[in-house]
Amino acid sequence: MEILEAYCEELGGVVEIYEAQEEYFAQPAANRHRFKFRCSDAACRAAKNPLVVGVNYDKNAEESDKYQQPHFKSHTNHPHIDTCVWVVSDAGKREENPSGNERDDVRHPRPKATNVVDVFEPRHSDTLLGAASADARPPAVVSNDAPQEDGGQAGIRAGTTTTSRLEKLIDCWSNMELDARRHHRITINGRTLTYHQLCLRIITISEEENGSRVVYGGARVRAWPEDKPTHYYVNFIDGCDRFPEVGGEKSLTISLPIKRLKQSRRGALLTDRIEQASQPNHYLKVYAWGDITARTGNKKGYELEVAALDNLVLKVVKKKPAERK
Ligand SMILES: [Zn+2]
Repeated sequence: MEILEAYCEELGGVVEIYEAQEEYFAQPAANRHRFKFRCSDAACRAAKNPLVVGVNYDKNAEESDKYQQPHFKSHTNHPHIDTCVWVVSDAGKREENPSGNERDDVRHPRPKATNVVDVFEPRHSDTLLGAASADARPPAVVSNDAPQEDGGQAGIRAGTTTTSRLEKLIDCWSNMELDARRHHRITINGRTLTYHQLCLRIITISEEENGSRVVYGGARVRAWPEDKPTHYYVNFIDGCDRFPEVGGEKSLTISLPIKRLKQSRRGALLTDRIEQASQPNHYLKVYAWGDITARTGNKKGYELEVAALDNLVLKVVKKKPAERK
């Protein structure tokens, strides 16, 4: 199982790697520095205070459609106490190959030896900058995102992993083989689907499935108005083919007010991804949890509304030169 939580010295608490990622990109672009992490286990920190390493959280573009999940790993020269949750979890961890490429963890069939997400609880509003962390919780609850009052330890025993971060769910989904997607289940708002059913391309989603699936596809982003932008428009390349035309179109757009991005914790990361995607030889893949509705006024086509920026994932993939043969 990947370790997804550690104590961050700069942030002053135990954080999930996805929170560290957002905070990393919230730093001014010219002056970003990696954080210093310690073991998430309080007893272990008190005894040995081992340094641990954050992997991939500071990464820019992905190299393939199989996204590299950010995670923590132990530091060779920094041992943990024997009872540390990291030591217990490490027993089931697959070996890291020499390239440092750390995928394929989902193939280990030990009970809850992976971070496969079982429950997705979409947020209903943005997490604003400066708000207390919604993810902060006492350390040692490593395999479970459920709130403590819900019994974090019980959650581990039951082997349930809950998250409100779509990005964690997408990283999990993208690293699953097709067979595993048919086999693993995910519960969202009380409804259970297979991972195979979870994500639908825009061209395949039906009106009946609207609002109950993750929609994804390639997209281009436009800042508007050009001279003094107030919005980014994320325009999907494909359309909602199974929906009726609106004003002669089936196009799908996500409107992101720049003010909204600036106010929310996830905004800096999304803005950074948008800027990266505009570089040559990069493309943007968008995953969103929300409702597709007909655009109003004189506008044509559809828009996808995301209630919280946590429900929007932008992945920038760098095209390999070989793909352009
Ligand atoms: Zn430890």
